[in-house]
Amino acid sequence: MKQNILIVEDEPPLVELLRYNMESEGFSTIIATNGEDGLLLAIEEKPDIVILDWMLPKLSGLDVCRRLCEHKDTKRIPILMLTARGEEGDKVSGLTAGADDYIVKPFSPSELVARVKAILRRTSPDFGENKLEYAGIVLDLSAQKVHRDGYFIHLGPTEYRLLQTLIERPTRVYSREQLLDRVWGRDIYVEERTVDVHVRRLRKALNKFGGDDLIRTVRRGGYSIDIDVNMKD
Ligand code: CA
Repeated sequence: MKQNILIVEDEPPLVELLRYNMESEGFSTIIATNGEDGLLLAIEEKPDIVILDWMLPKLSGLDVCRRLCEHKDTKRIPILMLTARGEEGDKVSGLTAGADDYIVKPFSPSELVARVKAILRRTSPDFGENKLEYAGIVLDLSAQKVHRDGYFIHLGPTEYRLLQTLIERPTRVYSREQLLDRVWGRDIYVEERTVDVHVRRLRKALNKFGGDDLIRTVRRGGYSIDIDVNMKD
């Protein structure tokens, strides 16, 4: 059965772009062009995921997001928020309001498709192949093996979990503390600089056969995996 995406967006060209790209990937789509309709359609149709614009007529994306997360019939539906550049402070409130991820406009359709698939993979385990892919790096989650541009990359278990965490949300910056929680677990005491050591190992392993260094170090911020790494630093 096709997975159903609810697109809540008020700009017609963007609606068409989203619809076209999602349907080309084998999803079915339903469209709402304001926040109120978006909320009602989500409750009626129970889509597999909602792509939700931030600035919407009638009810803002943030309000829709909050209400979807409160409503018993929709609280499990994942939400990807669209925000305009410059509204990046908003993404924090979006994520706090319950969105699973956000993407900043203008975005590339392939990046959006990748994000949608990553969310669905996390939220519906039987979706698609058991693989995570980003910028030529492929994680086979069942075999726990990593390839980059076809080359087998040998990683220790910690580097593997680190890579998996980063690649599930490409471009998202994780602080050392967040990485410690996710990769090592909350109960283990590990110094923050241990993260740096493992990131260094991961970087070395990933770059062994060439290719750009995709791990971005954000001063005082943390780390992310990002194809645009060189444009940002
Ligand atoms: Ca809008």
